[in-house]
Formats: sequence, C-alpha cells, structure tokens
Amino acid sequence: MINDMQKIEITKESIFGAQNYAPLSVVLEKGKGEFLWDVEGVKYLDMMSAYSAVSHGHSHPELIRIIKEQVEKLSVVSRAYYTKNLGDFLETLTKITKMDRALVMNTGAEAVETAIKAARRWGYFNKAIPENKAEIIVADGNFHGRTTTIVGFSSDPDYKKGFGPFTPGFKMANYCTNHCSCSSKCEDSIESFKKLINKNTCAILVEPIQGEGGINVPRKGWLKQLSKLCKENNILLLVDEIQSGLGRTGKLFAFNHENIKPDGVIIGKALGGGMLPISAFLSSQDVMDNFNPGSHGSTFGGNPLAAAVGKRSLELLYEDNLIENSKALGAYLKKELINMDLDIIKEVRGEGLWLGVEILSDRTSAKNLCKELMLKQVLTKETHETVIRFAPPLMISKENIDLGLEKINEVFTTYRAKKISAKKAS
Ligand SMILES: *Cc1c(COP(=O)(O)O)cnc(C)c1O
Repeated sequence: MINDMQKIEITKESIFGAQNYAPLSVVLEKGKGEFLWDVEGVKYLDMMSAYSAVSHGHSHPELIRIIKEQVEKLSVVSRAYYTKNLGDFLETLTKITKMDRALVMNTGAEAVETAIKAARRWGYFNKAIPENKAEIIVADGNFHGRTTTIVGFSSDPDYKKGFGPFTPGFKMANYCTNHCSCSSKCEDSIESFKKLINKNTCAILVEPIQGEGGINVPRKGWLKQLSKLCKENNILLLVDEIQSGLGRTGKLFAFNHENIKPDGVIIGKALGGGMLPISAFLSSQDVMDNFNPGSHGSTFGGNPLAAAVGKRSLELLYEDNLIENSKALGAYLKKELINMDLDIIKEVRGEGLWLGVEILSDRTSAKNLCKELMLKQVLTKETHETVIRFAPPLMISKENIDLGLEKINEVFTTYRAKKISAKKAS
C-alpha cells in the first residue's frame, strides 16, 4: 500500500525524530470534514479525530476564515499586555460553560497542571491545609497528560517507567467501570475515595468517562455520589473534560449527564477547533481568585489568535449542531455496532460519538484491527490491547457513519471467517 514517497517520510521521522509513537503506515497531507487524504490521494474516513481534537471537522471553512483574518492583524503579544480578543473569549467561555472564571493555556496537560495549582492554593488559602501537605485524590486508569507531575499519578507503568522521582501529594482510588465488581451504585469505588480523604485533601480529580483508559463509562450516579462526597468533606471536584467535553458525549460536558456542578473543569482538544492547541481551566470565583500576578502563566496562553479561534470554536458547537449530532449519530452508531452481533466483540461502550469496542483478547489485537481498517480506508486508533475507539468528527453525516460501519463490518467479519477457516484447516 505504501509507496517510496511515503517510505521516505516514514524513514525521516524515524531517523530524525524520537520513537515516542508507533504510527500506522499512512502519510497524511490533507483533510476536509470527516475525511483525510494521504500523499497518494487515497481518501480515508477519520474515525479518530486526533483524539477528539477535530470535533468540528478538518479545515472548517469558518475557522480558516477567522485564522486568516486574525493572523493578518495580530497573533501573539504575551499576557504582558491586554489584547482585544481575550476578554471576548473569556466572556464566551464562561457564559457557555456556566462557570465563573476561565484561565486559558495551550495544551491539555498545562490546563491540568493549572487545575492542580489552583486546587492546592485553594487548599492552603481557603481551607488552611498546613504548608506542603495538600493532597489530591485521582482514579486508577486515569489519563491526564504527560508532564512529570501528571505521569507520576498514572497507574500505567508505560507512562511512568524511568521518569521518576515524581511529585508527591497524590493518592489513587478505584475508578468505577462496567467491569468492576462493585454494586449497582458503584459503592466500592466511592468507598475507595472516601477512605483516602483526610483533613489535607483539597481535591478529587477524575475524568467523567475515561478515554485513554479504554472508554470506561462509570455507572449512572457515580459522579453524583462523588460530587456529594466532595461537598460533605469540603473538597473540590475537578473534572478533566479535555476529551469528553465540548459535545463529544452528546452533551456539552460529560458531567451534564449527571446534573452536577463541579468546582473546576478542564477543557482542551476541540476548543482549538482542530487547528490550534487551546486549553482552559474553568472554575468558581473563589478557586480562581487564589491566582495573583506572578503565580502562574504561559507565553502563548490566551494569545489573540487562539482567543479568536477558541471563541468561534465554542460558538460553532451550536451553530453547526455538533452536540445534537453527536448525541443522535452516536446512539445510532452504538446501536448498529451492537447489532452486528459479531462474536469477536466483547462489549460496545461509550456515549455520543465516543465509542469503544472491546474485542476478545484471544482473537487478535485491537492494533491489528486498526491496521486492517486502515487498508479499507478507515482510520482509528486502539487504546490498550483490546479496545478500538470510534470517535469521528462530530459533524459527520449519517451516510458516512454508514460507510464506516460497512468497513468495520467487513474487517470484523473477515477476521472471524479467517479464524473459523484456520480452525477448520487444523
Ligand atoms: C488528551 C488528554 C489530556 C492531555 O492533553 P494534551 O493536549 O495532549 O496535553 C489530558 N486529559 C485527557 C482526558 C485527555 O484526553
């Protein structure tokens, strides 16, 4: 499938770069909506959306217009000065999300770091936790980014090995997933958080649905129980909505499925409209008020270009009907995947256009299926050995969901047929 030109690109990355990714053998050069093209002009359906960063679709014409317009005026001046766009962006951000305050950064990991700093300051200044004693409780299976502090509280050995020593002040409780043996109210998980709380606990930090952990959906009511636990103990609830937020699960935020109000919300990925790294930490006023000049910052955070793009990205969630589309087509995709009723599929889970298909591990690897899907011009990416995610841009049409389903069915069925004939042959 790959020709010499593609081989050269691939070789260059491996000769001159670091080997911190293992990409599929496809060299992409163009994108439009839910489609991508490789350097040969072969067209692929994108069912990955850059880990949900491209919810608006590739090369969104309105975002291209905004970028062009702004880049010709002003792009970056740092926060040493006021700029025309940041105030507008912050106003839109807080109005749409119904949070009091927003602090704009660039990457998701930086916004998580911002949340950690905010929570610790709140702990020391508002809760009188003794200096250097603040604790944050996280969940096993978490993914919050790649800084040394963040990988330090990961439960995945691949993320941490050889990167210590790590930042202290984090404790790990059990996430609630469909696979856990807990009761219908997920009390074992809640209990594990409860046990770790003490007078120095300033926050609980969780993903409402774990993405990189395997599209793990907690039982209904779990987040609400966690929110209640936080309120009872005067602890902040911080939710990482970097991947689950901005419509991905069929609501603005995944926590909206539970009707709660967290103290801090972390967003990123789709906030940049699939064009720029833009992230933000959103919180109540009393949490954000603990930042003062000099305590936190970012050269590029909240620059005029990012502010213009971020504001339009938020507005387009509604103008392009992305949240509703995610809800309706997500439900359709999920139903159709379940209806395939293939014996290779162990479970289909997720909300909105954010689905994980867990395959039986004795059949093949999820990575292998992603390779086979790529040969049929559908791009996605496994997470862990046994889960394939399907997370197309939220503007995808039903017709192209059907196209994806057809290819998925072909690959999964062929695989089963192969297995059966291999068995017969032996
Ligand atoms: C992607 C992701 C991050 C990290 O974002 P980066 O922009 O890669 O730093 C953090 N949390 C969650 C839940 C994510 O999916």
